[in-house]
Amino acid sequence: MDINKNKFSNSTDSVKNNNNNFAVRIVKGEGGEIKPAQAKKIVSSKITGKVTLNNYFKGVVEGNRTILAKAITLVESNSKKHHQAAQELITNLLPYSGNSIRIGITGIPGSGKSTLIETLGLYLIEQGHKVAVLSVDPSSSVSKGSILGDKTRMERLSQQTNCFIRPSPSGGILGGVSRKTHETIIVCEAAGFNIILIETMGVGQSEITVRSMVDFFLLVLIAGAGDELQGIKRGVIELADAILINKADGDNETRSKMAKIDYSNAVRYLRPATKGWLSKVLTASALTGKGIPELWSLIENYRNVTIENGEFYKKRKNQALEWTYRLFEDGIKDFIYNDEEIKTKLAEYKKLVLNENILPTAAAEILLDIFKSKIK
Ligand code: GDP
Repeated sequence: MDINKNKFSNSTDSVKNNNNNFAVRIVKGEGGEIKPAQAKKIVSSKITGKVTLNNYFKGVVEGNRTILAKAITLVESNSKKHHQAAQELITNLLPYSGNSIRIGITGIPGSGKSTLIETLGLYLIEQGHKVAVLSVDPSSSVSKGSILGDKTRMERLSQQTNCFIRPSPSGGILGGVSRKTHETIIVCEAAGFNIILIETMGVGQSEITVRSMVDFFLLVLIAGAGDELQGIKRGVIELADAILINKADGDNETRSKMAKIDYSNAVRYLRPATKGWLSKVLTASALTGKGIPELWSLIENYRNVTIENGEFYKKRKNQALEWTYRLFEDGIKDFIYNDEEIKTKLAEYKKLVLNENILPTAAAEILLDIFKSKIK
């Protein structure tokens, strides 16, 4: 692709060439089309050192790994100036994104997620794919021990040219982390990565967040001592398009097969995570690689079925809408909690409520009126 020629031109050719049937934005007649013409012209302001936004754009689209890493750092930055530049960059990269399958992988620590990602990643690279590995771990900034933080966990994968591994952004709260991950997906796709693996831990709210940004959601479990269904929350199982019973090797193989039967029976009674797709259960060994090709054909099958029945793009569109609402609501909260007058009044009414001098409903109403008066 000649980037210089197509950059910000009115032609949609570059987009058409760069995206195939995975890109929600360029589905013919679907109405969700974003053309490069809609992208704002990038100012060639310096962002970091000598790198301009234009360099970022070109570097990413050309698949330059160093620039890709820098672009993600820009996206992850908490500085206001960087935020604005990142938004501009993302807007311009959007027409080049979407050309991927986004896969979420969850499971409790120790279930073998990183081993699985390494084995699956290497298998996919062998098949000619480009794999980006991201993670969502809001605890990483607290514990400093981010999942994926230690690249030695995926040493062989991290050495591959067609793989890009990025640990969880340390955004503190889940909202911050997920915004950054959402945008990082776009940057990675624009850089030509066609398989995006997003790891999250099998605890807390992050499953729901990751589910809301992926096409396919995989739950990794290990066969327990007869209490398979109790160890993990039913809610997480309901989010999964497939359950992988990992470590199905050695002595554990028989137990894993039993667990597969149990889970297969259980998922039959659950509402499907994706319409028109009955969640599947399979066994594998991330360590030996047994079952990994089967896992990939299952994901490919899922993609074919959901493209065929329209759910694939419908889901992406719903996710885009959901994301818009979330950003809008977050923006309102940001506005509220950064406004000096509201901050003072909040402190004032907090005391009044705690001293039982005013009812919570009355306090909330007054605060809401102050907010409304500000946006008139
Ligand atoms: P994570 O915390 O979910 O990322 O789990 P890891 O990938 O770090 O794996 C935890 C431990 O389980 C490591 O010691 C792995 O070597 C081991 N492990 C992972 N997958 C398998 C597997 O398929 N079979 C066996 N026997 N061990 C595995």
